[in-house]
Amino acid sequence: MTLTRDLVVVTGAGGFIAGNLVKYFRDRGLARIRAVDKKPFEEWYLYFPEVENLSLDCSTEEVSKRVCEGAAEVYNLAADMGGMGFIERFRVECLRSILINTHMIEAAYRAGVQRYFFSSSACAYNTLLQQDPKVRALKESDAYPAMAERGYGWEKLMSEIFCQEYWAERGLRTFIARFHNVYGPHGTWDGGREKAPAAICRKVVEATDSGSGQIEIWGDGTQTRSFMYIADCVKGIDTITHCDELIATPINLGSSELVTVDELVTKVEAIAGVKLRRKYDPTAPRGVAGRNSDNTFIKQVLEWEPDTTLDEGLRETYQWIKDQYLRRKRGQLVVS
Ligand code: NAD
Repeated sequence: MTLTRDLVVVTGAGGFIAGNLVKYFRDRGLARIRAVDKKPFEEWYLYFPEVENLSLDCSTEEVSKRVCEGAAEVYNLAADMGGMGFIERFRVECLRSILINTHMIEAAYRAGVQRYFFSSSACAYNTLLQQDPKVRALKESDAYPAMAERGYGWEKLMSEIFCQEYWAERGLRTFIARFHNVYGPHGTWDGGREKAPAAICRKVVEATDSGSGQIEIWGDGTQTRSFMYIADCVKGIDTITHCDELIATPINLGSSELVTVDELVTKVEAIAGVKLRRKYDPTAPRGVAGRNSDNTFIKQVLEWEPDTTLDEGLRETYQWIKDQYLRRKRGQLVVS
């Protein structure tokens, strides 16, 4: 457990998951939190004036050193990332995130950090195992032999190896979670980087507001995925980072509730109380055909798995996105 006097560093804190992680640590009473993101403060989804906030780019040695100074724990969630539309188009940006972890882990090691967390992804898994929507859930050993998602997935896999070798050769306690599609309030919901649940919530809000009665769906709606609610994600990050059995051991952090994209749309429609005509775009980015999280390992080690139902999480998310949409429409400033 983190002591309240320990300095905890969270990178990517202007973004979705890390912003919610800062909130989680703050709510748990941690007194010394350093939140870092390269975005200017006005673009952060969550900003807490009572923590130390730094607007810095962690992809250099100098900044990483500054960021890790005096830290007991480092949670590195900074990455150039987005949904399928982003990671299929901007592979160079995704690959360049390797610079963040490369410098951050070295700086953390030199600063004598006790625990270092890295946010990996289900995109690190072998894509050849994900060609059928009726997927076999992915277990941790399925990353090898490696055939990760080009760009984004390989960066994650390589950074995982850094974490493993910093433990093996230098004794830095590292923790690696492979997130599976995280969703919830205070994340990207418009602009091209948003992921499927946020995009669908926004499209349903738009269709209801405009009265178009129609929704455009990327792919043919049969792709399957599981989606983890943000509250489960931050709890999982904390628990994993404080479990010594998991040092340098990649572990799935995801929901095992599998749905098709069509089912996801139906759920959001039910929350909104509408029924829309579906227009499928087979040329849009759709990612792998199917992906689910095998939670055998996490249940065995932590006696827990992410368990917020999709219906429950989507209700919160839909409401938040609807609020943001309406605020923007009224001319108020929102971060999308
Ligand atoms: P996000 O885009 O909302 O947040 C990432 C943040 O990192 C952004 O605010 C960005 O400005 C910041 N950043 C990028 N480069 C930086 C740099 N050089 N220095 C400092 N900050 C920088 O994304 P997210 O969904 O919150 O994802 C957080 C982490 O979780 C990422 O590592 C991502 O790859 C991983 N992940 C997310 C999901 C998901 O479903 N959201 C799934 C798998 C893995």
